[in-house]
Amino acid sequence: MRFYNATTFLFRRHYEWRILFICFFAVHVPLLATLAFQAFSGGWSVPTLIVVLGATLAGTIFGVLAIHGLLSPIRKATNLLRAIQAGEHPGAIPTGSDDLVGRLLDGVIVAAHESSTRIARLETLSEHDPLTGLLNRRGFRKAAERALSRPGNAVLALIDLDHFKLVNDRFGHEAGDTLLRKLAQALEADLRRSDVCCRWGGEEFALLFPDTLVDEARLVMERLRASIALDTGLLDEAWPVTLSCGLAPLRSLTELDEASRRADAALYEAKEAGRNRVRIARS
Ligand code: GH3
Ligand code: MG
Ligand code: MG
Repeated sequence: MRFYNATTFLFRRHYEWRILFICFFAVHVPLLATLAFQAFSGGWSVPTLIVVLGATLAGTIFGVLAIHGLLSPIRKATNLLRAIQAGEHPGAIPTGSDDLVGRLLDGVIVAAHESSTRIARLETLSEHDPLTGLLNRRGFRKAAERALSRPGNAVLALIDLDHFKLVNDRFGHEAGDTLLRKLAQALEADLRRSDVCCRWGGEEFALLFPDTLVDEARLVMERLRASIALDTGLLDEAWPVTLSCGLAPLRSLTELDEASRRADAALYEAKEAGRNRVRIARS
């Protein structure tokens, strides 16, 4: 590194130019030596000078082009690393021979792989709820964008556990967490592959049923509500776990926010009507 550091004053930001300059200088040494020799000896030989000058010119052109070509994989590796650092996809990475450049490119391949794995893991974390493993709201919206890519009948269901605060108070927060996890599993187990399920927040869940009419969604939710109410494995047998649900139909992604407001209002009505029931939003 000493020579590298000592020469940084030459083209501080352009390593390639530094190498080319040093190469240019080195190639001219024979010419300078010939000139110096002839000047000291006083015996000028024009043919010798022309031959050395021509050879220097040819050597310079060849050296500059060859070094420029040899540096190209390093330039490429640097650009790839820059792309990886910026979080961009580096595309196909060339492989080198079993030498310095080959090992540098191997390092770039490892860095690209690690970086894409890390990005995928962060993306998964940012779109999932850590407690239940379900999608969170952000992941839900992304999944909804895919599920609602074609206009058609769809239904949004908002679910809220009844008196969940009492569960925490009576059985402790840990038991409350376990109940949320079990409920998430029960919801997922009951859904079609095309349905989207997420933890909306706290003890609230959202379900999106694509290609479904509101009456069909109501039947699904009534069945789910009844099976949850009858499931004695969710908590202490003597404690009924019930949920309330609001349903709102929608036909495209642009209606999702409005549908969530209407499903929330229907959920509120289900609570007001005594809980443990499913309500469809008023049209
Ligand atoms: P309601 O029937 O009106 O919905 O009554 P509720 O008690 O379920 O409603 P409320 O919104 O008053 O209470 C929700 C509770 O959920 C309060 C909060 O402590 C609890 N909660 C929210 N997130 C979590 C969680 O991640 N784990 C546990 N154990 N409890 C949570
Ligand atoms: Mg709530
Ligand atoms: Mg609740």
